[in-house]
Amino acid sequence: MKIFCIGRNYLAHAKELGNATPTAPVVFMKPATALLKDNNFFLPSFSNNIHYETEIVLKIGKNGKAIEPQFAHRYISEVTVGIDFTARDLQDDCKAKGLPWEIAKSFDNSAVVGEFMAADNFSDLQNLNFHLLINSEQKQTGNTANVIFKFDYMISYISQFFTLQQGDLIFTGTPQGVGAVHIGDHLEGFLENKKLFDLQVK
Ligand code: MG
Repeated sequence: MKIFCIGRNYLAHAKELGNATPTAPVVFMKPATALLKDNNFFLPSFSNNIHYETEIVLKIGKNGKAIEPQFAHRYISEVTVGIDFTARDLQDDCKAKGLPWEIAKSFDNSAVVGEFMAADNFSDLQNLNFHLLINSEQKQTGNTANVIFKFDYMISYISQFFTLQQGDLIFTGTPQGVGAVHIGDHLEGFLENKKLFDLQVK
């Protein structure tokens, strides 16, 4: 199982971190060991600035390579909301040095996924509302209509380089409003007002 992530896919978020508008999807990966297996996220000792990035996550339902955009929707079997946890201090250091991001993005438990829902439940995946509550306060909200690269194009693009396999996940980017998490925080993720994850920062 592979986990793909798209960076800078919402313009307002790219700008809040001082990044230029991408001209092609920014793709990075997390290993299977990045998946958080329960509802407790322990702040890692190597960072002083772990950020939440709330994102819609797609699950791939069948294998494919070099997928044409017009057929890409057939490869999305399920959808949920998740968090791409990011060690922002390490990432800033990597970016400043022009180095890869893996230690900042792909560490153990950095990939949170909620309960998956069948993609068929939604008439338009490119018009999904999602939001994050921290300690019952709304901290981040988004709608997938606002992405720079739509899901069909994203799947087509990724599959030029990597064979997509059943069970692979794609984190589709975060809207604006990212920020730090702290010990004791209670995070709840919603897709269209249905709560799909509930976790505690420890
Ligand atoms: Mg992200």
